[in-house]
Amino acid sequence: MPYYCAEQETLDRDSIEQLQRRKLDALMTIVRDSNPFYKDKFEGLSFDPMVDPVSQLPFTTRAEIQADIDAHPPYGTNRSCALSECVRLHQTSGTKSGQPLRWLDSEESWSWCTTCWRIVFRAAGVQDDDVVAFPFSFGPFIGFWMAFDAAQLLGNRVLAAGGMTTKARLRYIIDNDATVICCTPTYAMRMVEVAAEESIDLASSAVRMIIVGGEPGGNIPAVRQRIEAGWGARLFDHAGMTEAGAWGFECLESPGGIHIIESEYIAEVIDPDTNATVADGQPGELVLTTLGRSSPVIRYRTGDLVVLTRDQCDCGRCFARLEGGIQGRIDDMLFIRGNNVFPSAIEAIIRQFSEVAEFRLIADHSGGICNLCIEIETISSAKAAGLEDRIANKVRDKLLFRPDVVSVKADTLPRFDMKAKRLVHTNRSG
Ligand SMILES: [Zn+2]
Repeated sequence: MPYYCAEQETLDRDSIEQLQRRKLDALMTIVRDSNPFYKDKFEGLSFDPMVDPVSQLPFTTRAEIQADIDAHPPYGTNRSCALSECVRLHQTSGTKSGQPLRWLDSEESWSWCTTCWRIVFRAAGVQDDDVVAFPFSFGPFIGFWMAFDAAQLLGNRVLAAGGMTTKARLRYIIDNDATVICCTPTYAMRMVEVAAEESIDLASSAVRMIIVGGEPGGNIPAVRQRIEAGWGARLFDHAGMTEAGAWGFECLESPGGIHIIESEYIAEVIDPDTNATVADGQPGELVLTTLGRSSPVIRYRTGDLVVLTRDQCDCGRCFARLEGGIQGRIDDMLFIRGNNVFPSAIEAIIRQFSEVAEFRLIADHSGGICNLCIEIETISSAKAAGLEDRIANKVRDKLLFRPDVVSVKADTLPRFDMKAKRLVHTNRSG
């Protein structure tokens, strides 16, 4: 059964929109009544969710939420319930745009979050007898906590694999016959690398599925291929964020894209410069409204660049689908010799070279222009003669600029258990 909630997941387009309006109507009543942040924000606004398009509501930005938390520490006022009703606290990593954002959930809200993850698991074909492993630090980062609880609620045996070395995690996964792994694409590749060093044969393990998220890698073809080959397992991408929960999944039937859970979210795509809605099929920034959370976001600018389509999928869902998943973070876009370039586009090229174990992008902004240097570390057994030139040429052919590519010694580039930080800016003003 590829659905968690077949009744809602198989609705036609009109019925999805009606359902969204009803849920938005209920949400607006709640926030106007009991959520100080949105009560203030919507003061004097005339808006009827059953009639008016959601685009008439103002956007919510991360900076606004941050400012509210700063003004009302430690949690801000975006909460539709009493603090005493909140049972979960999580926070963002805070590495990109300043301080971490703290996020609270009531029990009901957490249940909504895990419902979204139950939809993700069922869409990937997770069965009752799957054993789901989480090689994850279990710190305050929200991502796989939700998944952990959701898998348990589905009746799966769950393995918490925090606080171990990568080698110990691999043994734990194999010894306990895990069949499903949830992690970042970066860490799925890191485990393949360590398995090769330790002569551990992952392809003959019981693992049949890797569900990844947190980075664009799951939908970069060369990354996907490397993970699937290394594990002998099918990869499924999913998408989520602290502020919005697990909002997207890849279905069994149509690899290479992410459905938005439109029974629980309203999705829009806008031009990030003009804020105008863009047509389906055109790139733009994803804007999300959560329809079931105690700390909701309404028209939240995610900063993710996507291309959305709304054709019915082979899986039977009419949920909107993001072609190729998340293309990249708008903030991460580099402007190099007249071209806009996402780090994910560079990674898509580098990962085609199986000799490369790890890489790092150094964006040097000296003199007001951006020059890119790619540092590469090769796997120990690789014959890598001329590899730097081959990578530089391939980047030039595909992306129309030729970066500097330099090899560094083994084990000098950082490795990551969670989201990777492979882009470094130098000499950047402002
Ligand atoms: Zn589908």
